[in-house]
Amino acid sequence: MFEKILIANRGEIALRVVRACRELGVRTVAVYSTADRDSAVVRLADEAVCIGPPESRLSYLNAPAIVEAARRTGAQAVHPGYGFLSEDADFAEICADNGLVFVGPPPEVMSALGDKSRARVLMGAAGLPLPPGSLETLGTAERARAVAEEIGYPVIIKGAAGGGGRGMAVVWSERDFTEAYERTRIAAQAAFGDDRVYVERYLAQARHVEVQVLCDGYGNGVHLGTRDCSVQRRHQKLVEEGPAPALSGSTLDALAETALRGALSAGYTGAGTFEFLVDEAERFHFIEINCRIQVEHPVTEMITGVDLVHEQLHIAGGVPLRLRQSDVRINGVALECRVNVEDPARNFLPTPGRLTRFAPPSGPFTRVDTHGYPGYQVGPYYDSLLAKVVVWAPERDLALSRMERALHEFDVAGPGVHTTIPFVRRVLDDAAFRKGRYSTALVERLLAPADPPDVSAPHAPSSRTS
Ligand code: ADP
Repeated sequence: MFEKILIANRGEIALRVVRACRELGVRTVAVYSTADRDSAVVRLADEAVCIGPPESRLSYLNAPAIVEAARRTGAQAVHPGYGFLSEDADFAEICADNGLVFVGPPPEVMSALGDKSRARVLMGAAGLPLPPGSLETLGTAERARAVAEEIGYPVIIKGAAGGGGRGMAVVWSERDFTEAYERTRIAAQAAFGDDRVYVERYLAQARHVEVQVLCDGYGNGVHLGTRDCSVQRRHQKLVEEGPAPALSGSTLDALAETALRGALSAGYTGAGTFEFLVDEAERFHFIEINCRIQVEHPVTEMITGVDLVHEQLHIAGGVPLRLRQSDVRINGVALECRVNVEDPARNFLPTPGRLTRFAPPSGPFTRVDTHGYPGYQVGPYYDSLLAKVVVWAPERDLALSRMERALHEFDVAGPGVHTTIPFVRRVLDDAAFRKGRYSTALVERLLAPADPPDVSAPHAPSSRTS
């Protein structure tokens, strides 16, 4: 195991990693921008190094400054968290060149699987079912339109380098295709420096179900059950749960086994997530792989008892996987609600400000991962995620009422500050959600007609990619 690692991230996930390290006796180096000088992670890490001004580009995305901080402090490895540099194969390579272990898959695996179009080709070849679509990225709009025609509308145009729900457009009819295609390419180029796009059939009533896997560098791997993340606004998750509800045991097993097969075929190592869309007939289709720890990982931790960050660190340290598939038991139900500093009444506009009151819930089977504290200044620079409220119960009904109780307890306020708590409470109240029979269309339905659905509209940049 490492003696010291550097955490190349901020907010709740940086704290999450600090906690795992302390439990394992690993010393930690936090890096921070000047905007995060007073953050909890700076206080709790063993050492902290300022890497630049607030702009992400100059701090949390500043690879040379991060590597230099690792060199100066003698860190042996870098945990990238999620977002920022976590899926940047070049950064993983730079770490390796500087003698640092990157906590994640090898750069070549990451660059193959992190490219959504290449991942689609690789996983298709490994036998994973794909939504009907193009196997290659497409060039001219003309050619793409012919592909869309073949697939049948509606279709979704996706940037190969996209992530975080960005760089995608849904097209309902041929009439709108060419304009949407050009717009998506321009947006993808601007956001990711890469204008390659591909086209897939849009599965309008599908559920987003993902599988957590862990693989070591010796060909061993396990799956750790499913999470349903269908509660999304503009492809950004708001509420997650595990295991995915209202699906047959055989579908859940098939999903998990399929994901693991995909991971092992690609030489994946570390913690990873295989995302699928599941249609009404419980047919599932692979959409992408997230090569990192995800925001919603606590859901899996609660239903399996496995600390995923501990496992990431062991795997990165070269320890053979400590779990066999027979050790993994899915127990009970966990729910997670994201508390973002946004105003649901104003199109989820971020509302930064100082938290004059901040008392997160606690109580039985309730976990809150947050970097907030009373007096904390929520800045305008980064992702608006402030807290994740996670509950566990032996059954789903009790998990729902436990979550309601927890959100009821959450006391957070400040001048001009709004949160997504009222909105996620509406989700929990929804009849379809309560039955566990909901799809990615749920949030749009709840927001209509005050906020008409516009799944293709651009939105504020985010470091969140899960
Ligand atoms: P990102 O990499 O930006 O997270 P994904 O490919 O994972 O993008 O898709 C994010 C979300 O977009 C999915 O969870 C789903 O709600 C929606 N989506 C993506 N592909 C499709 C599709 N083929 N049909 C319907 N919805 C889709």
